[in-house]
Amino acid sequence: MAEKRKYSKRHCKYCEAKVDFIDYKDVKSLKHSLSERFKIMPRRLTGNCKRHQEMVENAIKRARHIAIIPYIVSTRKAVDNPVDNIDNIYR
Ligand SMILES: [Zn+2]
Repeated sequence: MAEKRKYSKRHCKYCEAKVDFIDYKDVKSLKHSLSERFKIMPRRLTGNCKRHQEMVENAIKRARHIAIIPYIVSTRKAVDNPVDNIDNIYR
C-alpha cells in the first residue's frame, strides 16, 4: 500500500527556519503541529526535534489557556436552546 505521507519525516521545519522562540499567539504556525481534533501531533509524525517539540507543546498549552485553540472538539452538535431539545439530547 503506497500511501502518501502527510508529513515529511526526519526534518524539523523549525530548525530549518532557525526559530528560537515559538509564539503562542501565532495559531497559523501551530496548526502544523495540531491534528484535526486539535490534539498535539507526536514528534514522529511532524518530524520536529525534541527541543522544538517542547516549545510547540508549551505554545499550544498557552494558546489553549487563553482560548485561542480548543482543548476538546465535540462530535455532538451544539444545541442552541437545551430546554426545547431536552428529549433529543438523551436519545
Ligand atoms: Zn528543531
